[in-house]
Amino acid sequence: MLDINNLYVKIKNNLIIKGLNLKIKNNEIHIIMGPNGSGKSTLSYVISGKQKYIIEKGKILFNNKLINNLSPYEISKLGIYLSFQYPIEINGITMYSYLKTILKKKYNNRVILKKIYKVCKKLKINKNYLYRYFNVGFSGGEKKKNEILQMLLLKPKLVILDEIDSGLDIDTLNIIFKNINKYKKKYKCSIIIITHNTNIIKYINTNYVHILYNGKIIKSSNKNIIEKIEKYGYKKIVKQ
Ligand code: ADP
Ligand code: MG
Repeated sequence: MLDINNLYVKIKNNLIIKGLNLKIKNNEIHIIMGPNGSGKSTLSYVISGKQKYIIEKGKILFNNKLINNLSPYEISKLGIYLSFQYPIEINGITMYSYLKTILKKKYNNRVILKKIYKVCKKLKINKNYLYRYFNVGFSGGEKKKNEILQMLLLKPKLVILDEIDSGLDIDTLNIIFKNINKYKKKYKCSIIIITHNTNIIKYINTNYVHILYNGKIIKSSNKNIIEKIEKYGYKKIVKQ
């Protein structure tokens, strides 16, 4: 599904991604871990087509189509969804108006409202939130739930979750992962989970764990490596 080949990415003349390779098949879960500042969010942005992230070299293929030069809108339409590490607030636009806009090509207004209500219920989001401005004044956990709300409505084929689990209380964590797991089971999508949480495997069953360090994946393994990271940190892996 996703094939990233020898990728080099620059931001404002700084090389951040330096020869990264990653292959993801249909219906797979890949966890990406790594120290702060190693390039995890940069990778998620560049897959999603964010402006000013310059691809110097390498290829990003999605279902055999080169997406290096596509806009976020075009990439989103292909079925790639990014849940932001820091979701933004949009003052003056209500949640409902925003969701209606992103769904209007797919469904009519009545269907949209029904679907939104259904997903709100699954995520235990009060309907009143639909009439508040997008993420404005939402708590950290509410913003992350809003990211999953959009995911469930847009039905992407490849989901990138950038620190979806950072700073969440245990109940919100459970609600979010219950919904992610259900979605994965039903739609057989692929998921990239960027996380620092060594408890992640309690919540989701992963196929691979990759360690991203200094702009490169330096190790790929199964979930057993997480235990080692918890014990020794990244030092040992980096040294190897
Ligand atoms: P991670 O998500 O792994 O913690 P990031 O991808 O956010 O790391 O950042 C990787 C590196 O790129 C960091 O050193 C960061 O300071 C730098 N970086 C990210 N965005 C920008 C930017 N817009 N301008 C300059 N440097 C940036
Ligand atoms: Mg990050």
